[in-house]
Amino acid sequence: MSCQNCREALSARLDGEPLGLPADELDGHLAACSDCAAWVRVAEVVTRRARLAPAPPVPDLTATVLAALPRELPGARAAARSRLAVTGLRLVLLAVGVAQAALAWPVLVSGAGAMSAPVHMAHETGAWNVALAAAFLAVAAAPGLAAGALPFLGSFAALLAAVTVSDLSAGHVHADRAVAHLLLVAGVAAVAVLAWRGRRRREAPAVADRRVTA
Ligand SMILES: [Zn+2]
Repeated sequence: MSCQNCREALSARLDGEPLGLPADELDGHLAACSDCAAWVRVAEVVTRRARLAPAPPVPDLTATVLAALPRELPGARAAARSRLAVTGLRLVLLAVGVAQAALAWPVLVSGAGAMSAPVHMAHETGAWNVALAAAFLAVAAAPGLAAGALPFLGSFAALLAAVTVSDLSAGHVHADRAVAHLLLVAGVAAVAVLAWRGRRRREAPAVADRRVTA
């Protein structure tokens, strides 16, 4: 190996680049050649000095930057309000689910109490109403289920509301039983709001992405 090849490889090594020849060959030459050994010591000092050149002075902006920061992150208050609203809706659903189950369970078990309906009709009504309670409780536990539960719960509530209004005017139902259906309406309204909020949350990142790529 020539001294020139050796020094090119040493220079590459100082710069963290590929040597272009086997490292043990280079070290072998370096151990044997005092000229190249002296050269590399000087090169190391020069490289180190170049890398440790003092940084240009920068004014300390810490206080200015800290003073310019908003007292809370943008959107933090809205996010906290949103979390609070979701928690409130989940609590409403929990209450509606428990009350709905408490009303429906005796009818399901005894087959009696549903406006003197035949036993099986009472059982069937009880099963429906307990299932509704289960749906409300499931959405209270996992609000992400709201959108999936809404088509069934919404259509059931809409149909029941329509027939209840017509039954009330025809005298086929007592007002107290009709009032119990308001529980269902409250639960469906809470599920609808949760589904709407969930959809809006899923859409927000997509809108932000489009802005970035536009
Ligand atoms: Zn040499």
